[in-house]
Amino acid sequence: MTSTRPWPTRRQLLAGVGGVATLALAPGPVRAQVDFRADPFGLGVASGDPAPDGFVLWTRLAPYPLEPERLGPTTYLVDWDVARDEAFTNIAATGTARAVPALAHAVHVEVAGLEANRWYFYRFRLGKSVSRTGRARTLPAPDTALDKLRLSYASCAHFEHGFFTAYKFMAEDQPDLILHLGDYIYEGSWGTRRVRLFEPEETVTLAQYRRRYATYRTDPDLQRAHAAAPWVVVFDDHEVQNDFAGDISQDAVCAGAAYNQAAFHARRMAAYQAYYEHMPLRKSTLLAGGNVRLNRGFAYGDLVNLVMLDERSFRSPQACAAPATPERCDGPKRLTPGGAGGGQVADVDASCKAELDDPKRTILGADQESWAAGQLKSKAIWTAIGQGVPFAHLNQGTKDAPRIWTDGWSGYPPARQRLVNAVRKSGARNPVFLTGDVHAYWVIDVTADAQNANSPVIGTEFVGTSISAENSPDRSHLMGDLNPRALFHNAKTHGYVLMDFARDKLETRLVVVNDVTDPRTTRADLARFAIEAGRPGAKPVV
Ligand code: CA
Repeated sequence: MTSTRPWPTRRQLLAGVGGVATLALAPGPVRAQVDFRADPFGLGVASGDPAPDGFVLWTRLAPYPLEPERLGPTTYLVDWDVARDEAFTNIAATGTARAVPALAHAVHVEVAGLEANRWYFYRFRLGKSVSRTGRARTLPAPDTALDKLRLSYASCAHFEHGFFTAYKFMAEDQPDLILHLGDYIYEGSWGTRRVRLFEPEETVTLAQYRRRYATYRTDPDLQRAHAAAPWVVVFDDHEVQNDFAGDISQDAVCAGAAYNQAAFHARRMAAYQAYYEHMPLRKSTLLAGGNVRLNRGFAYGDLVNLVMLDERSFRSPQACAAPATPERCDGPKRLTPGGAGGGQVADVDASCKAELDDPKRTILGADQESWAAGQLKSKAIWTAIGQGVPFAHLNQGTKDAPRIWTDGWSGYPPARQRLVNAVRKSGARNPVFLTGDVHAYWVIDVTADAQNANSPVIGTEFVGTSISAENSPDRSHLMGDLNPRALFHNAKTHGYVLMDFARDKLETRLVVVNDVTDPRTTRADLARFAIEAGRPGAKPVV
């Protein structure tokens, strides 16, 4: 889709982060004590991937966010401080990190040696410039008796479709942890609601992905959320390309013989690198050959075992691909959710069922499946599984003619059942599935036989709506007899999910912004649900 509005100039975009200035130094291989005329920390700060003795600190030197080439081949030495107090009088750790051009002058510091289970303050310094102060919290020591944990999670933030006020409210909640479950950026422009614009080209090259992240990170509300708490992130599809699967593009079916696998692999590698460069991730995330390792676990004492899954990098292609007709392959719907790409709503009929039931098809890949089976073994009271795409079974057809969305776990039934079996076999207690992806709220109880609503409830999935991406169609008609375990649906709102874990109860709030097109909008709780520990199934809080 094309917009009739003019694309803002780089100068206009840069106005929000200190204005354009010229590089005030001669090129050189390594520089410290540099002063730029624009704020080098204009993209903010972040922390993430907490451990009992530390966390990752992140920033990226970007005095010219959309013209990073102006920093040249120079490596900059950036100082960092971690303190026990906000005034930085009680320093706990300090050091110097290298911002190298090969990683877009991003800085990742893996701080260690801190005390478990407490808040710290951090900042970066370069020349006379000092970054804003961020807050980060270490994990409790293993097996610590923990009374409560507050976490919130977000997904699907289309920069053009709305303001990121939901992120501001996430920061105001003062959570211990924020999860991002994917679609942090969008690679392309689609939809009908535009409150602001990013560069019109779909991101393909490393330079394009870097500029997309830089545009996002100039947003003050997103910066607030990153500074407020450590983040634990996984990507979904739009950080690379809509509905990609493993190393296969959504364009593979439509391109036919013209499909260029090497070109897509290069694109995925660029996208993964840009993701790493802009997230508070450990060095161990980025692997040789353009691969990543994002599945990882975080133990919040004896209270919550958090298991994070990567559901894009290793998955089989979506089942029952429609033929490459012009209707499917041409036109402006290619980038829309439910458009002509890999995911679709497909009939579970004879033509599709054999492929759906093929046990060789996978979402996690064999290595991640066996890792998850081990990671789920925990005595923690709650098991939180942070993951990208809808998990619980949802029939989108009729009882006699079922239909399913092929990009979610419903399109991979044996793989889903294997994960349910792993949850049960591991003894994981009180599992909850934390999900993004579909621009709508769903609360659905998960059953032991995932496709049989009459089998016992083992846990609950909370699908969060989008931060700002346009909603998917209302599917309230799927509630009731057709999907009796679906407890709640709303596809008219934007916001995030706030969870308060206690030893006896999990309370979940579906938080909404009242107008995503108004940066001064207010917030509300759309619904609240509670789960009692040891009693599977969510109950509305009235
Ligand atoms: Ca998605």
